[in-house]
Amino acid sequence: MKNASIQIPYKFKKIFLHRDARNDEITRRVLDYYAHLPVEEVAHEDAFLERVHDVPLTEGKRYLWLTRYKGDFIKYCPGATNTSQTYRCCNYLVINEATNCPIECSYCFLQGYVTNPAMTIYTNYERIQEELRNLSAANPARILRVGTGELTDSLALDPILRLSEKLAATVAELPNILLEMKTKTDHVDHLLEMPYRKLVISWSVNPDWIVHHVEHKAATLEQRLQAMKKINDAGFFIGLHFDPIIYYHQWKEGYAELIDRLREVVSPDRIVWISMGSFRTPPPLKENIRLRFPKTPILAGEQIKGRDGKMRYIKPLRQQMYRFIYERLRQAFGEVYVYFCMESRDLWEMVMGKSPRNSGEVDYYFACSIYQKFPEWNWPRPEYAVYQEDITTQQANRIQVLWKAPEAASSEMAGNP
Ligand code: SF4
Repeated sequence: MKNASIQIPYKFKKIFLHRDARNDEITRRVLDYYAHLPVEEVAHEDAFLERVHDVPLTEGKRYLWLTRYKGDFIKYCPGATNTSQTYRCCNYLVINEATNCPIECSYCFLQGYVTNPAMTIYTNYERIQEELRNLSAANPARILRVGTGELTDSLALDPILRLSEKLAATVAELPNILLEMKTKTDHVDHLLEMPYRKLVISWSVNPDWIVHHVEHKAATLEQRLQAMKKINDAGFFIGLHFDPIIYYHQWKEGYAELIDRLREVVSPDRIVWISMGSFRTPPPLKENIRLRFPKTPILAGEQIKGRDGKMRYIKPLRQQMYRFIYERLRQAFGEVYVYFCMESRDLWEMVMGKSPRNSGEVDYYFACSIYQKFPEWNWPRPEYAVYQEDITTQQANRIQVLWKAPEAASSEMAGNP
């Protein structure tokens, strides 16, 4: 199974393996690739978690923990459920296929989030496939955007795991699901070998200076650009995330040059969406960042606490940066779909001249854009009321509605206009 051409740059010290995951395909792939590492089989998850609980994150990231996930893999993006009344979210769905990340961005929110410091990979991917099928069947009238990489980097270990291929094969049969994989790597060569193209490969992008000083162990900007060109030319969908946008002394020159370089390798026709979100952090995370990266430049720029409790740059600075980047994006890529990640209504208005009434409306705009720009994929035609329905009447139990078996869900959906 070992593919000699795969070169993963991350070094691990040891593999811990839950005995239930022993025979899973993903486990075999990992054990084969890291055949030189010691392996310890664990009978009880709690005992393992207790053992690593006090291991510092930098050390913990060097352990691989292979186990099966017992809950639902797919959830609403936390922004959609927690803050959508304050900041406009987009009703995105996330797949938690792994937790933790071998990359070391100094702003990473995982530093204040994970209780288990090991690089955790869930091996029961068949369950994700099943959830995707159920999700699709329960929501036939909606275009659903679902993404991996919420708690990890989607492609960091994918050349070994090949989860992309499993999930791309599943969504190829589902007319209403668009799957996104987000990365800061250049691990794309294995994707080019797949027969599937209904997949969004997205990059989080920042100027060279930020990549160099802040996104440790990630691919350089040049490497990411080369990977984007391959994905662009192979006919995948491309997403770009200007997130987190970071203030630094030469931010204008940096972001202008970044957009020029992106335009050289990515065609506007292939871009499905571009997001913008400024650097934001819960106050305790700021302390973690100071401890782990005392010289980081990311804590420059005046910040205030927002209504969701997170620290953000003051509004005039956010507005200035967003407007500059937005105008450059329009010049470079024309009418591609650009949206804010977790921003307030007035900033939408100030920068883009439009302000969605709620997250359902953002979701609807997404659906219209996808439907119109990529008609060859036969998406369900977006109806405004369908996207409002989740927001207005199913707010409290929206996730349960999504997970009902198709037969049960269809009676629920029957009331929808
Ligand atoms: S790539 Fe994403 S998950 Fe990984 S360290 Fe950076 S911000 Fe965190």
